Amino acid sequence: MQTGNKGKIGHVLQAINIVPLLLFGTITLLLSYQWFTDAMYEEVERGLVYVALNTNTIIDVAYPGDYRLEGDTEPHLYKGDAAITTDAYELIDRVKADTELEITIFYQDMRVLTTISDSAGGRYVGTKAPDIVIEEVLNGGEPRFYTNTLINGARYFSYYMPISDSNGNIAGMIFVGKPSQKVNTAVQESLYPLIFTTIATIIVICLFLFFYTQKLITALQHIRGFLVEVATGNLTAKLDSTVSKRNDEFGDIGRSALSMQRSLRTMVEQDALTELFNRRCAEQKLRQVVAKHQTQQTPFCLSIGDIDFFKKVNDTYGHECGDLVLKNISAKLKEHMHNHGFAARWGGEEFLLVYDHVQLPEAHRLLEGLLNEIRAMETQYNDKVIKVTMTFGLIAGDTDDTSKLLLSADENLYNGKAGGRNCIVWKQSDEKSDTESDTASEQENNNKENE
Ligand code: GH3
Ligand code: MG
Ligand code: MG
Repeated sequence: MQTGNKGKIGHVLQAINIVPLLLFGTITLLLSYQWFTDAMYEEVERGLVYVALNTNTIIDVAYPGDYRLEGDTEPHLYKGDAAITTDAYELIDRVKADTELEITIFYQDMRVLTTISDSAGGRYVGTKAPDIVIEEVLNGGEPRFYTNTLINGARYFSYYMPISDSNGNIAGMIFVGKPSQKVNTAVQESLYPLIFTTIATIIVICLFLFFYTQKLITALQHIRGFLVEVATGNLTAKLDSTVSKRNDEFGDIGRSALSMQRSLRTMVEQDALTELFNRRCAEQKLRQVVAKHQTQQTPFCLSIGDIDFFKKVNDTYGHECGDLVLKNISAKLKEHMHNHGFAARWGGEEFLLVYDHVQLPEAHRLLEGLLNEIRAMETQYNDKVIKVTMTFGLIAGDTDDTSKLLLSADENLYNGKAGGRNCIVWKQSDEKSDTESDTASEQENNNKENE
């Protein structure tokens, strides 16, 4: 099973966080853009209508009567009896100066007065209105606002208003236009900060969501990796501390996984009755001590101890009492081995003690202390007090062969039992115990004690 990749749920989590936000952001931006440009165009239209109406009114008030053109080669515009070309130019040029808008007066579909310049620098007169304008305004009789009118190569927002004569017929049009370039620049100047702020906000939220989600995914990956390790039997696997320190559900799952690992470890490594390491675990731990001895030359000693005449305890007081004695002895062994190595239940009433980093004389001294404590120990069962002794076979760890070590310790134990029990028989693993003077004297002493 892979543990390094982000996995499906990682992609899904990132997607459900970020995709809706991006969609929301995009739709908001598009709608804002649309709403904003619509509002701007309406504003432009209002301005153009206002100037067109005013221009028309001013000319009408100053020169009552109908428009007409006179002269073939160079036609002049008349209104009523007055030739208005010069005055009207003065008026529309002033309006242009004040408003930066272009003004044109059409007689029918022809530009007769205009502020728009042609390519030679003169006025762009004598030209025709666009077809659509002729159709909709001149023929249709309705004023119109256009957002994209092409006049002399330039684009305008334009407003065309029909002008009627005294008979109600359409005599021409007034055009007011604003260069598209100016409108677009105004739109961009107002919209860009809004777009920038929106995009920046979305990016910041996306980053926040991404990193937050990434943290969740990483926690999930740590938990998954840890569970995969435990599932494949690694009961010493470590869970990343960032997970167990979390205060959320992931932290809970991490802590539960850790306690599950501890429970499994207890079940696999511990003897249920005595709570000492079981034989399988003890063998593994012994191999570790031997391996350390091999690489670092650290001394160690090994002892197998057996409760003397334990069958009698069971037979006399019952199995339950026997269990209680086993528990008490085990607790004593555990306490004794604390800081010196470890104790394990090797078989029924048989125990393995491994003194790590301890030389043989020191191990012997420690074991003597332990045996004395066991001799003095009392187990209360109902109204009875039970006392037991133990026999130990002790050896120094001077070989890497664990079977040989265990065999030697067992031999010493056997000799101890044969020699009267309640004693320690000790020797180097490759020497014979019965030739060891210390052992002999120890046994002698013990025999005396037993008498
Ligand atoms: P020795 O001094 O030679 O060791 O004598 P012993 O009676 O202790 O040895 P023996 O092997 O004859 O008997 C061991 C007994 O330990 C027999 C068995 O019922 C008992 N025993 C083993 N495991 C347990 C246990 O878990 N609980 C109880 N109550 N008794 C156990
Ligand atoms: Mg026994
Ligand atoms: Mg036994």
